[in-house]
Amino acid sequence: MLSMVIYVAKLYFFYGAMNSGKTTRILQCAYNYEEKGMRPIIMKPKTDTKGADKIVSRIGATRKVDYLIEKNENIFDSIINEYGHVDLILVDEAQFLTTRQVNQLMDIVIDLDIPVMCYGLRTDFKGNSFPGARRLLDIAHELTEIKTICDCGKKAMFNVRLVNGKVTTEGESVAIDGEGKVTYTVACSRCFRMKTRKKFDHPETVYE
Ligand SMILES: [Zn+2]
Repeated sequence: MLSMVIYVAKLYFFYGAMNSGKTTRILQCAYNYEEKGMRPIIMKPKTDTKGADKIVSRIGATRKVDYLIEKNENIFDSIINEYGHVDLILVDEAQFLTTRQVNQLMDIVIDLDIPVMCYGLRTDFKGNSFPGARRLLDIAHELTEIKTICDCGKKAMFNVRLVNGKVTTEGESVAIDGEGKVTYTVACSRCFRMKTRKKFDHPETVYE
């Protein structure tokens, strides 16, 4: 159990590979705030279809998301116009936010004095940062890496995509875990290179 903490109004980014317990932390955080009679809201970009309007932790806990963020939505305006008093904003799958939406979260922190805690992946299965994660790494006040372990025992930093159980380096960056035959595993830098059969500096490695 995490002890009760009231967070300072800052933009926080908790990042890690898949299965690092990010969602469990969000649920705990929301619970702690509610227990003190405060009002947290949980948001999630709509891109992620896993559990639709729920967030689902690996240990099986679920909770309905208060707020699904549309791709072109101005989050600042939505908070002002629709949400009334909010004590804490928690964002799951924050890597799927747009650059502008991360900027809007920063404005929320500054203008509305609300702490915003974003949780998400640092990189996609090609080892490239998602736009939302990149912007958070640029401007968040506090960066916290949530560590998880590769099969070899080293820190896992990367997500490896498997299609029908076989490693792939092809496809769009967004293919949600559990949809179709796509699954993911995590890897350290060395195992990521071995599994994808590509050196990090490789002439055919052209990423958007
Ligand atoms: Zn490894």
